[in-house]
Amino acid sequence: MISDNITRDADGTLRFAGHSADELADTFGTPLYLMDEKRIRDNCRMYLAAFREHFGENSAVLYAAKACAFKAICRIAAEEGMGLDAVSVGEIHTALEAGFPADRIYFHGDAKTDDDIRYALDRNVGCFVVDNETELEALSAETKRRSVRQKVLLRVTPGIDPHTYEAVNTGTVDVKFGVPIETGQALEFVRRALDEESLDVAGLHCHVGSEVFDEDVFERTCDVMTAFMARLRRELGYTARELDLGGGYGVRYVESDPRADIPARIGEVASHLKRILGEAGLPMPRILMEPGRSIVADAGMTVYTVCTVKHIPNCKNYVITDGGMADDPRWCLYRARYSVLHASRETGENEIFDLAGRCCESGDIVQPAVELPADTRRGDRVCVCTTGAYNYSMASNYNRLGRPPVVMLTGGSAWTAVRRETAEDLCALDL
Ligand SMILES: *Cc1c(COP(=O)(O)O)cnc(C)c1O
Repeated sequence: MISDNITRDADGTLRFAGHSADELADTFGTPLYLMDEKRIRDNCRMYLAAFREHFGENSAVLYAAKACAFKAICRIAAEEGMGLDAVSVGEIHTALEAGFPADRIYFHGDAKTDDDIRYALDRNVGCFVVDNETELEALSAETKRRSVRQKVLLRVTPGIDPHTYEAVNTGTVDVKFGVPIETGQALEFVRRALDEESLDVAGLHCHVGSEVFDEDVFERTCDVMTAFMARLRRELGYTARELDLGGGYGVRYVESDPRADIPARIGEVASHLKRILGEAGLPMPRILMEPGRSIVADAGMTVYTVCTVKHIPNCKNYVITDGGMADDPRWCLYRARYSVLHASRETGENEIFDLAGRCCESGDIVQPAVELPADTRRGDRVCVCTTGAYNYSMASNYNRLGRPPVVMLTGGSAWTAVRRETAEDLCALDL
């Protein structure tokens, strides 16, 4: 199985975190998002233990809320001792409602409005990750007006392409996030920020991308950031106290994906960073990372009910379910891969199907070319694995479909963390 929290009984019953997917579908209906609470906690603990070991007690791991944010998940992250990377009022509000400590929230995003800034300051959010000079001016004006001093990190773009082994200029300098180092703009950005008395410039933030598998991406990022920190010390007399390396470790969606040993990777990054900081004569800053996907992806599974099966001779077969791009747009957006399993049988007589949904778009495919029993039929359940990240959080109401519930699996119990959105809910905002 793609993840060890998925098993199949001798009679064909598929289990997720020990629970029969078919039975859960009977109880809670479909489409259904399942989340394995123990796996979320284990993933948090894996990061926190590796960080304590390699970066010391002072280090921090922030959960990137955008991967999947609702109150229960924020509560779990808080209980585990994680910080939070939030990018909107909605994410901050959700976290605060769940009792997440405001001082452990880092407010990210490349387009914070004046209202966003005021909201976060009102709630004493711990740190702003400032994306650009315009935001710097807006934040500084507001903090001055309030006579408060706000801790900030400055987001810079190290110019690393996470998918190649080259430090590349184009394709990385041109991203919309942060301020690029290699154009010289980042140095000016830091200089400007240091002039602002109402801002406590704690350090730097960078994030090179998502689904990182290349072994040395974070090492190369550290090289660029260390060189930049050395330059800041030389030219501005400024020493960064914090360095946030961003998120991005990849997870296994299909069997051919590599298995990233994240604690081992973190250990390698730490020894590399210690060495190059030492060579540059810089002190070790407080290190942060902000994983999203690798905290929740393998804690999730989506269960659908098959509505119809279509065979188009010499062309294509479809399994069409009661879900689709509204609850999982990832294949449509960027051709994301998934493992798909039948919930109750493994026949050995398989056929290749496109797993499609109920949305009115020909492109409404959750996953093309999946292998399922040839006799898959209406009423069967199919499960899409590893959907804990960027599924619920990217769901839409396209075709006026209600978003599925999130059912949390905790030991032997299954409980609704987010209820199903009803047709009435969909009209609740209509005046
Ligand atoms: C998306 C994002 C993350 C989390 O990335 P994952 O790939 O989910 O780990 C962390 N930090 C920033 C700034 C991001 O944009």
